[in-house]
Amino acid sequence: MRMLSKACSIVASSLPRCSSSAAPTMRGQPSLLPSVRKQWLGKPLLYGIGSLLVMPLRTLHGVGRVFGAGRFLCNMTSVSSSLQIELVPCLRDNYAYILHDVDTGTVGVVDPSEAMPIINALEKRNQNLTYILNTHHHYDHTGGNLELKAKYGAKVIGSEKDRDRIPGIDITLKEGDTWMFAGHQVLVLETPGHTSGHVCYYFAGSGAIFTGDTLFNLSCGKLFEGTPQQMYSSLQKIIALPDETKVYCGHEYTLSNSKFALSVEPGNKELQEYAANAAELRNKNIPTVPTTIGREKQCNPFLRTSNPEIKSTLSIPDHFDEDRVLEVVRRAKDNF
Ligand SMILES: [Zn+2]
Repeated sequence: MRMLSKACSIVASSLPRCSSSAAPTMRGQPSLLPSVRKQWLGKPLLYGIGSLLVMPLRTLHGVGRVFGAGRFLCNMTSVSSSLQIELVPCLRDNYAYILHDVDTGTVGVVDPSEAMPIINALEKRNQNLTYILNTHHHYDHTGGNLELKAKYGAKVIGSEKDRDRIPGIDITLKEGDTWMFAGHQVLVLETPGHTSGHVCYYFAGSGAIFTGDTLFNLSCGKLFEGTPQQMYSSLQKIIALPDETKVYCGHEYTLSNSKFALSVEPGNKELQEYAANAAELRNKNIPTVPTTIGREKQCNPFLRTSNPEIKSTLSIPDHFDEDRVLEVVRRAKDNF
């Protein structure tokens, strides 16, 4: 772990926005329905248990209420005995995540693309902010950094490769570093492909990983600064984690991603069910996040580069290595 005091100045509008298909707005969502949530996540998941414990209370006491000017909604889940993860919709289709260690009261936020939804959520519960974790430098993941840092004195954490382009960065980390959030050990995985400095944060004790724009529900990020080989290696690193690991990604793209996934692997029964569940959730404006590693391995075409149906659909020669298959799948999705 290295300290870096240099504050960076980045003009948000000059940076590329993360990959996006047309995705519905998330402002003004109704409350998260525990029953639908449980169905989406499956009974074996700890998350589901946590949501049963936490969500009914939140629902009864106003998880569906809007924050601030009536535009934002936060959904809270508990993934371990002492770590709560609160999903905060931001911008058009981004998710930031507020982390709350119940034992110490320590609070952090992952990828605050804008400050106000985070401030509103914190003020609602009279919480301070100690840490800001960024998965990569894009403005729709860092746009709230400087305002939140100025208001709360929070430390900004990111990849050492992004030390010159993450606004306000204080602490830089690299592959294999472990960093402590309150009592929770956080493992840093370098996952280049979407950007060269992209990292994921794995909370092993809570079985949760924040994947930014590397791994989405049913897709991966666009290759702005990396090669298909890099993205393939990054995804393999992530899916080496336990199947039950909960995946918190940076955007709500699932519905559009499901349409592409079905177009290349229409015979996948699990994918058909996944897509139907996602459509049901989005029709109710309910987030499809988190997914799990196991679920993605069953259904995400970018993790199924040895699948015969996908290769056949896209006319990919049998002798292609899997990273070359990913390249073809990525190109097909870019043109979908
Ligand atoms: Zn991005």
